[in-house]
Amino acid sequence: MEKNFKIPFTFYLARTFSLLHSFLVDRTLVFALGSSDHICCRSAHFSLAAYFTGNSRKQRHIETENSVCSCKHDVDRNCSVFIDLRTSRTFRNSIMIIKKTGYHGLYFPELGVSLDGYHPEADYAFVSHAHADHMPRNRNTKAYATSATLDLMERRGFRGEKNVLKFHEQFESDQFRATLYPAGHILGSAMIYLETEQGTLLYTGDYKTPPSPATEGFDAPEQVDLLITEATFGLPIYRWEPLEKLKKDIQDFAVSSLDDGYTPIFLGYNLGKAQEIMHMLAPLNLPLMIHGAGFKLCDVYENHGIHLGNYSTYVREECEGKILVTPSSALSKGFASNVSKTRVAYCSGWASNESRRTQLTADKLIPLSDHLDFFELIRFCRELSPKKVYVTHTPNPDVVQHYLEKEGIDSSFMNFEYEAED
Ligand SMILES: [Zn+2]
Ligand SMILES: [Zn+2]
Repeated sequence: MEKNFKIPFTFYLARTFSLLHSFLVDRTLVFALGSSDHICCRSAHFSLAAYFTGNSRKQRHIETENSVCSCKHDVDRNCSVFIDLRTSRTFRNSIMIIKKTGYHGLYFPELGVSLDGYHPEADYAFVSHAHADHMPRNRNTKAYATSATLDLMERRGFRGEKNVLKFHEQFESDQFRATLYPAGHILGSAMIYLETEQGTLLYTGDYKTPPSPATEGFDAPEQVDLLITEATFGLPIYRWEPLEKLKKDIQDFAVSSLDDGYTPIFLGYNLGKAQEIMHMLAPLNLPLMIHGAGFKLCDVYENHGIHLGNYSTYVREECEGKILVTPSSALSKGFASNVSKTRVAYCSGWASNESRRTQLTADKLIPLSDHLDFFELIRFCRELSPKKVYVTHTPNPDVVQHYLEKEGIDSSFMNFEYEAED
């Protein structure tokens, strides 16, 4: 159990007061301090403390969905300390009410809409893409997404209702009109555009412009009132090289390694990055093996018109001398450890940080990201001339907000648990 969190006392009081205030205002926050002898209550305290200090990592102590904490007590009934702060945060602005739901989702009570999450009262759950931190898990979810996203979600265990929307096709209800715009992040990824009587909103999900070549491209509306944007690479040290250059680096690494008698291994996660690397290598038509978890997603790409080349699933005994693609986590678990001469390329936006080289002992760092870089992010915000921007999924909200302010754009931080995905 962790004990050493340091919080300035006045800050603690101020935040406590504001939390109590929000409890009194919309009765969504319940906490009564006491009964801290329960493990779960302690972890709830830590979560609360983590919330105060802004250290979202520590929120992992409590795994709440429907208010059940990590030790499986019903927080509401048995612990009386804490109801998930993340499900009860409300963002108010002059245009529409936005609430957080679950880990990463949003709920719009006036519209009956959820984005990238489950909410019991949502009639429409729009899903931007099939990455784990965006995909709702609940069986009762009425999901609306592109056909590629729904196919990928199904492969990853989604069992709710599936409703296909085409890009640029308008979907209307009494309260809103929704349109999906291609987000350029992974296959099927979409930005969700909502037009309402109160105003318009664009939710980016994860996005990339210029788009990844293993996607349907990128397109956006011309102007929006509210913009909710991810800012994964929210520092001006992140400026990506042109995709053609990165593609050449990837091909050169594969060819030169094989020429020198080495087996090239590309590190990239299973959905998106792996297929993007394969798509870039496809013109070489060299035999390639991909980790099994990524392999089972590849035919969805092929079915949706993204060619991935001459590939098969990873077989340990047969992998020597082939191009290999795997998430880095598999490497430490013995992936290709039977091959004596390997060269490893780490493909990620984070690869632009030299420090990663020592952490990963990769032979080559290729800064291929499936998120947009910092400068594209600021440019995109400027072009949409929104009345308000919510910045989310970022380790650096202050920096992004500072640059937006210089552009004369009003912004707030929407604090979701941040994961260093790429
Ligand atoms: Zn993603
Ligand atoms: Zn994400």
